[in-house]
Amino acid sequence: MQNIKNYINGEFVNPIKGGFIDNYNPSIGEVYGQIPNSTTEDVEKAYQSAKSAFKQWSNTTLNERRDILSKIAQLIQLRLPELAKAEAKDNGKPLSLAKAIDIPRASSNFQYFADAITQFSSEAHESIGLGAMNFTLRQPIGVVGCISPWNLPLYLFTWKIAPAIAAGNCVVAKPSEVTPMTAYLLGEICNEAGLPKGVLNIVHGLGTTTGQAIIEHPDIKAISFTGGTATGAHIARTAAPMFKKLSLELGGKNPNIIFADCDYENMLATTVRSSFANQGQICLCGSRIFVEESIYEQFKKDFVQKVSELKIGNPFDEDTNIGALVSKPHLEKVKSYIDIAEQEGGKILYGGNTVTVEGSENGYYLEPTIIEVSSNQCRLNQEEIFGPVVTLMSFKTEEEALQLANDVVYGLSSTLWTNNLTRTMRLSKELHAGIVWVNTWLLRDLRTPFGGQKASGVGREGGFEALRFFTEPKNVCIKYE
Ligand code: NAD
Repeated sequence: MQNIKNYINGEFVNPIKGGFIDNYNPSIGEVYGQIPNSTTEDVEKAYQSAKSAFKQWSNTTLNERRDILSKIAQLIQLRLPELAKAEAKDNGKPLSLAKAIDIPRASSNFQYFADAITQFSSEAHESIGLGAMNFTLRQPIGVVGCISPWNLPLYLFTWKIAPAIAAGNCVVAKPSEVTPMTAYLLGEICNEAGLPKGVLNIVHGLGTTTGQAIIEHPDIKAISFTGGTATGAHIARTAAPMFKKLSLELGGKNPNIIFADCDYENMLATTVRSSFANQGQICLCGSRIFVEESIYEQFKKDFVQKVSELKIGNPFDEDTNIGALVSKPHLEKVKSYIDIAEQEGGKILYGGNTVTVEGSENGYYLEPTIIEVSSNQCRLNQEEIFGPVVTLMSFKTEEEALQLANDVVYGLSSTLWTNNLTRTMRLSKELHAGIVWVNTWLLRDLRTPFGGQKASGVGREGGFEALRFFTEPKNVCIKYE
């Protein structure tokens, strides 16, 4: 059994009241460890540790912070094989994906914010004619809370923690209870990198207990949250009356719009990835595929063919393309949408069944599933499924494609396939999305703003947006004449 502990004040400790919950390996459907189900008392202990560390940490030089964050980045890179294995075991994702994406990007998050904090600046405004000069301080907020989901565990956890501590804050962080292992290992890395005790504190447990204690804590002044839209709404209801600063990165139902004038082969290969990478459990996956009528039949045939070549298997097999879904309840939820498709008259073009993988018979495997729908109003096209299920629909005109793309409560990302420049410009402006990818998908530059519109969230992460979120602006006005 691999049991884990909370990381508070640089030490690994059991929860004060001693509650534990099971941690599953989804690829074999078995419990392989236990994690603390931390209570208000543990969160308070973590808060006190962060509070004690704040004065000193917020006064470290930017070079000192840069060096420590860079060291963390290097250590993540050094421990990549071990971290990737831990992520694959905890989450069910292919080991090859964890090695290529999750862990390198977790390292990049620390390296990026190590550098970014040395370049971050604030503004000055001279009040000409009034004899006054204004300058804006950007001060760390104090103790902040970071709460992350299970789909990209270390990647999204570090995406919040790195800018928070780079900006001089101290952190109480909670990873998803479904995938806690790499967050636990991050504590070891932070100690080895020389991060002062208490700057980062990691409490494990359920959202409704541990997470709730973080968002309700009166002195945790900002919450950076990534997760489901319903949880985000609950956090907003709880934290807004306490005047906490909030960054909410929530669900998506992203359109992938394919025009006949695109580079077909590149589009086809990328669409397979944007549909099914990480078993479709990436908030940015394009789960609603809209294809121009003139190439619809061809696309349908080619897409089904390519998807049928994907290998579903144990995450640790080198040739696995599709691993296990993250948990049994999640598998059940995703499967329920395949039943809904049948009730709604959707036509299953490929997949739709659970898979028994030899040697991992109790794992949570599902075929990549392609469903043809005739209306964007069906539940399949309106609700986030967050699994290996995509829908196909054809469209006739650009106006129709835009209408279909925007006709949903979410607004996280959109993918557009076309070689028409003016169309690209028109649609980029009109799409309801925080991110528009044109002729690519998931290409990330960490300096760019990241986040969604509408029910996909409030605020932006990434680049200086994150450093602005984790600092409080204060204007100082000096009268000199
Ligand atoms: P979730 O909302 O169930 O949980 C996310 C985190 O919030 C977990 O750590 C959970 O323990 C915690 N939590 C739950 N209830 C809480 C409460 N009352 N108070 C405080 N914390 C609480 O989401 P999930 O199932 O882990 O993740 C999947 C969702 O995340 C999907 O909707 C997906 O689209 C979204 N997501 C969004 C982005 C983005 O950048 N927009 C990225 C990844 C995932």
